[in-house]
Amino acid sequence: MTTFKAFVTEKVGEKEFQQSIQSKNIQDLPEGDVLVKVAYSSLNYKDALSALGKPGVTKNYPHTPGIDASGVVVSSKDPQFKEGDEVIVTSYDLGMNTWGGFSEYIQVPSNWVVPMPKGLSLKSSMEVGTAGLTAAMSIYKLTQQVKADAGDIVVTGASGGVGSFAVAMLSKMGYSVVAVSGKSEDYLKKLGASKVVGRDEFLEGNQRPLLKPLYAGAVDTVGGDYLATAIKATLPLGVVTCCGNAASFDLPLNVFPFILRGVSLVGIDSQNFPYEERVKVWNNIASEWLPETSDITEEVNLEGLLEKINLIIKGGISGRVLVKVG
Ligand code: NDP
Repeated sequence: MTTFKAFVTEKVGEKEFQQSIQSKNIQDLPEGDVLVKVAYSSLNYKDALSALGKPGVTKNYPHTPGIDASGVVVSSKDPQFKEGDEVIVTSYDLGMNTWGGFSEYIQVPSNWVVPMPKGLSLKSSMEVGTAGLTAAMSIYKLTQQVKADAGDIVVTGASGGVGSFAVAMLSKMGYSVVAVSGKSEDYLKKLGASKVVGRDEFLEGNQRPLLKPLYAGAVDTVGGDYLATAIKATLPLGVVTCCGNAASFDLPLNVFPFILRGVSLVGIDSQNFPYEERVKVWNNIASEWLPETSDITEEVNLEGLLEKINLIIKGGISGRVLVKVG
């Protein structure tokens, strides 16, 4: 019988949770078409919520978190995959209420599994993870309408996981990027931003119904006044994508940017992004968009994970945490 290691969170009191590395059997895994031996995962804010028993992500414990995984197929009921194939599994219900990637094995439905694109590895795909994938999905939607010569693209929450990838990928694609950030300029310039604007400066005078049109498009990761400001300052026919609410879930806005400038607002939900487009986006990352990530990534193993989980929940991580599982 194959035994393996998994990070497990258990409920041990009314509001108390305990985390440990446990030995599990293949028979313990949920039903699924594809059994994958996990090589790498990555740490996201959602994983920390799940791992610490915070509300909103995972309902039932004991649970193994990890919304991202890369690994090698051990067996598959779906002929599309065969033993030895390298694959990526992210999104859908992985790590939320389904046993996730902080485990040496996962078993999942085959329509959650993406073949590893040429140009990516088990490791580099998880350096990208859900943060990079969400940035790439935003860019995929934005660049269908907005070309590199249309003008600056503004990225909010620019030093965060999604924001950093958006800045780096857009600049690699030849777009001029204005980064809105509460952090220092140096990191963002190094990622490829042509200009860095402070949060307060970006929001200055933003109460007016329309603002001077400055940007051909925007990748917003923070919501609230930042998203409203980006939309009001977008040039005619520009595209603004919205994926997060790091600042606020509210959107204080009026209809003028849409009816007077034809601005489009596109919502990004990485969890339910259609499979065919998901595969296309991973292939775009692999072939053209992948930025250099080694200096923004630190690596931990399952044993070192809890320390990082306790840090990310307090906003104490910059860059990406890669989790070496297998
Ligand atoms: P991070 O925590 O890594 O980054 C968020 C960034 O937003 C911070 O680094 C900071 O950047 C900025 N920020 C944080 N708080 C505030 C604030 N109060 N006001 C203004 N700016 C703020 O998160 P991620 O990049 O991983 O995720 C960004 C958002 O996207 C989150 O809300 C997350 O839940 C969501 N998300 C959504 C997905 C989807 O499928 N829709 C998938 C993945 C993430 P700076 O200091 O540079 O300003």
